[in-house]
Amino acid sequence: MLTLALSKGRIIGETLPLLAAAGIVVAEDPETSRKLILATSNPDLRIIVVRASDVPTYVEHGAADLGVAGKDVLLEHGDGTGGGGLYQPLDLGIARCRMSVAAPRGFDYAHAVRQGARLSIATKYVRTAREHFDMKGVHVDLIKLYGSMELGPLVGLADAIVDLVSSGATLAANDLVEVETVMPISSRLIVNQAAMKMKRETIAPLLAALERAVASR
Ligand code: ATP
Ligand code: MG
Repeated sequence: MLTLALSKGRIIGETLPLLAAAGIVVAEDPETSRKLILATSNPDLRIIVVRASDVPTYVEHGAADLGVAGKDVLLEHGDGTGGGGLYQPLDLGIARCRMSVAAPRGFDYAHAVRQGARLSIATKYVRTAREHFDMKGVHVDLIKLYGSMELGPLVGLADAIVDLVSSGATLAANDLVEVETVMPISSRLIVNQAAMKMKRETIAPLLAALERAVASR
């Protein structure tokens, strides 16, 4: 039996069509079901529904053999490079967005950076943000938030934020401007390293089918 960890919302929403293209359908609608373990048309594959940021944890511990997680989540988990017990064999190209720095309209970010100003940055992605600003040689005070980052600069919590942006509508609605791209983001398939060896006969065909589904989209 293979266990695949997915999170509700866009990850499940965009992974199910890839699974369907690989001939695998889920027995019930994960968005409406309260079940956290879902059977699929493949008797050898079940899906577990977990929080997005918990996907790497389940896979790392082998509670799930595979998972789908955003690059943002993998980098924060400390495994953006593929080390630490997780393989990242496939970029699924789903849940695409970018991680960006955004600041209130009127805040001259480029000027502040040139001046060597110390910036306060509110973000959920402290690890990735730290790396980004360290690389630029910008001194920052990072303030960890768990959501609604856009509010931070509006009430004086921080000068700017680091957050995921796709359309930019949320930023615009809060008078924030994207001032710098940190990196493009998409979701990756992750595989437990031990499972990759022990369950190769079932994982390899699934991987190949998903690769074909991604390539033919
Ligand atoms: P939670 O809502 O449980 O705190 P989350 O916000 O990380 O966690 P989702 O909103 O479902 O969970 O996002 C899951 C993944 O989808 C993210 O890790 C990211 O890779 C991607 N994602 C997040 N926001 C966007 C967006 N605006 N556009 C496209 N993809 C996004
Ligand atoms: Mg969310």
